[in-house]
Order: sequence, then structure tokens, then C-alpha cells
Amino acid sequence: MYDDEVRLVNLTQELVEYEVKSRIPTATMRCKCNKCVTDVMALALNSVNSHFITSERGEILSRVSLTNMKGSNDIMIAILQAIHKVGENPMHPLEEVES
Ligand SMILES: [Zn+2]
Repeated sequence: MYDDEVRLVNLTQELVEYEVKSRIPTATMRCKCNKCVTDVMALALNSVNSHFITSERGEILSRVSLTNMKGSNDIMIAILQAIHKVGENPMHPLEEVES
């Protein structure tokens, strides 16, 4: 009965995307283009464990359930470190974006 209803969700990714998007506006970074924001997410996700669940289609994951997740403190630290690293050294020439 659930054949078309269930999807695989990486809770860690959901949390990282949410937190990075909410922190970027106030973060100190030399560049905040889409590539840099995505690089921050990739860097943070690569340094923490994935946490997969199955979720029924359309189910909304609340921020509370994400931040109460086991290991979420490690994820927050990974996000801050990734913002710092990419913010200091964007992985693309800055001129391309600034010109
Ligand atoms: Zn950039």
C-alpha cells in the first residue's frame, strides 16, 4: 500500500541545507554565490554521518525534529567550520563573480 508513497530522506542533509541557508545571510564570507553556499553544504555533509529515514511523500519534517536528532551538535559544528573554510577560501576565482 505504500509503494508510491515512501521516499528516502537523508535527515542530515535536510538539517544541513536548512541551517546553512539560515546562517549564510549573517555569515562572514568573501563570497556568497550559489556555488559557495553549495560548497559549504557539501563540505559539512562530508564531515558528518548521514542519517537516513523513510518518509511518506508530502510529510513535512519539522525543524524541531531535525535539531533534536542525535548528533545534531556535531552537524552544527561541521556547518560553522565549513562556512569559515569556504568563506575564507572560495573554491573559485573571486574575479569571476565580482566582475
Ligand atoms: Zn562564490
